Amino acid sequence: MAVNKESYHKIREELDAKNVDIIAVSKIKPIEDILALYELGQRDFGENYVQELVDKNASITDRNIRWHFIGHLQTNKVKYIAGFIHLIHSVDSLKLLQEINKQAKKNNRIINCLLQVYIATEETKYGLDENELTDIMNEVNSGNLLNISIKGLMGMASFSEDLSKVRKEFKNLSDIKSKYPQLQVLSMGMSQDYTIAVEEGSNMVRIGSLLFGARNKK
Ligand SMILES: *Cc1c(COP(=O)(O)O)cnc(C)c1O
Repeated sequence: MAVNKESYHKIREELDAKNVDIIAVSKIKPIEDILALYELGQRDFGENYVQELVDKNASITDRNIRWHFIGHLQTNKVKYIAGFIHLIHSVDSLKLLQEINKQAKKNNRIINCLLQVYIATEETKYGLDENELTDIMNEVNSGNLLNISIKGLMGMASFSEDLSKVRKEFKNLSDIKSKYPQLQVLSMGMSQDYTIAVEEGSNMVRIGSLLFGARNKK
């Protein structure tokens, strides 16, 4: 399926005006689709699966792509992406953060991270609750994790037709972020709910199907 260029230009125009970054979520989509958006100026791409990301990164070496990891990340797989990942959106435990720090150090890098906060009320999703977030921020502020840089928070709203619920969940995350003035990035909003997310303060949206078309199941 071809990339929806018209949709890309429209969303880009809309969000550039609001200083919102777009992460093009390319999971399960072929390299040609990534390169088609790259040709239009897109540089930030998001992936959910470690092996798929490693393969894609290895086959696109001559471009300045910034890779974002947005899926659930297992501790034992951090090492495969630590050498090149630009931003990990989905840090949901201290254990994972410590492993990222360790692998970043091995690679002589500082890895940018977002802490994923659980905000959905409908289904079980990965993410920290507020107490866990506080604990991790305390650990970060204690200066023991020198090879990671916490840039902000990420969250996913419920997959719900009830837009007032979705809005409430986004607002909740926005309120949590405002307690941490040192954090800049608020990654929230996907194809179906990004407009609401931006209205509630998101400055980074992760958009897949609106740009690349619907996905087949992996
Ligand atoms: C797949 C995915 C997206 C993109 O979803 P679309 O509905 O296709 O825009 C965004 N964020 C995360 C965490 C995802 O897994």
